[in-house]
Amino acid sequence: MKKTTDILDKAQNGVKLNHDEVIFLLSQREEATLNRIYEAARNTRTEYFGNKIFAYGFVYFSTYCHNECSFCFYRKSNDQSLRYRKNRDEIVDLSKALAASGVHLIDLTMGEDAVFLEDEERLIELVDAVKAATGLALMISPGKVSEPLLDKLIKSGVDWYALYQETYNRQLYRKMRLDQDYDQRMSTKIQARDKGFLLEEGLLTGIGDTIEDRAQAMLAMGSLGVSQVRTMTFVPQKGTPLENVTPQDCGNELLNISVMRLLYPDKLIPASLDVEGLSGLQGRLMAGANVITSIIPPREGLAGVSQSSLDIDDGSRSLPMIIPTLEAAGLTLATNADYENFLKKEKIKRGA
Ligand code: SF4
Repeated sequence: MKKTTDILDKAQNGVKLNHDEVIFLLSQREEATLNRIYEAARNTRTEYFGNKIFAYGFVYFSTYCHNECSFCFYRKSNDQSLRYRKNRDEIVDLSKALAASGVHLIDLTMGEDAVFLEDEERLIELVDAVKAATGLALMISPGKVSEPLLDKLIKSGVDWYALYQETYNRQLYRKMRLDQDYDQRMSTKIQARDKGFLLEEGLLTGIGDTIEDRAQAMLAMGSLGVSQVRTMTFVPQKGTPLENVTPQDCGNELLNISVMRLLYPDKLIPASLDVEGLSGLQGRLMAGANVITSIIPPREGLAGVSQSSLDIDDGSRSLPMIIPTLEAAGLTLATNADYENFLKKEKIKRGA
């Protein structure tokens, strides 16, 4: 009990936790202790962000991909996967609707779709069109891309580049991201960071990762200079090699969120709707998350990543349906000015 108190006090006093302390926190299983960790994470969020929460609109505009990640529904060989590629006008209209609903950023996501990767101008044109139509901050999640494409994307005003490693355990990585070089993926992130993008990194849990793996990844993400750190629980996907893995509950994800908040108090940490939908939002906010991600407009034929359809068509992943959960947790939606202010300060901190 005293050790937990000492570690939480240390973190809340702004002192960086070390490897052993991170391991200790991630090893806790008793409910009362977990509640104390969640509470410390919430207090830290309040200290840095008040009661304001950011919201990201998610436009998964192409579900085609040439990769074979073993955990992913959209891997190339999965013939059960939903495939679509939205055209530019559809993407702009979806983005405008999300902007009108009050999101602070549009996350433009695709699988590694050769159509866009071989015709970079097509991708840049759609990014420019979304920027012009919404005026919002943009995140791009296009997979691993070439250096010239990174240059074009930053010139088009894209703020964020998201490229998830999912695990920093190289052996596990090889089983998850089949035939994708670990170091090349890392180098692409570093290139993007050095060009002035803010980075989002991601950690998947429930894929055979250990507490040591998670601690190592969380600490390494700080050295990488990330500005947003996300963690999600693995959801087994039909038609994939991991289809029959027994799913874990979301306990590790919630604890990861809290420990990330204590490690990185001034960074953005998502509460993703893409694992448990709206019903899982409160727990993630109570664990210290401060961005709601995977907000998807209903009935537009869009998919999520881990949960391809959960809560989408009935509108439960749209902002008006989400606000009551925020308010019940004593939180409020930030303004666009709040988000712009965060971006400005974070870019200065990162030297971007
Ligand atoms: S995780 Fe991304 S890169 Fe891997 S198969 Fe799925 S869409 Fe493709």
